[in-house]
Amino acid sequence: MAMEYRNLMEDIVLQNLDRVIGQEGGCTCDACKSDVVAFALNHLEPHYVATRQGRLMVKLQSYELQSRADVVAAISEAAIMVAKNPRHGRE
Ligand SMILES: [Zn+2]
Repeated sequence: MAMEYRNLMEDIVLQNLDRVIGQEGGCTCDACKSDVVAFALNHLEPHYVATRQGRLMVKLQSYELQSRADVVAAISEAAIMVAKNPRHGRE
């Protein structure tokens, strides 16, 4: 069996990403979304779990309930920052 581990924080950021960027009026192109994800994840504590797929969803749901407010705040901050200095069109 392969080693299996995952940062649940990453899943939670991705689940909330489009909605929060939309609320902030941020750009949703792939370059800007990638920047928002990277910025948000750097400002959130990672939450790694070693688990198989079935158990993962249970852990993910309970962890999302605990951490959603922090995640939304980090994505909002990231979306505002990226919107001020967008990377699209510069690469
Ligand atoms: Zn963009």
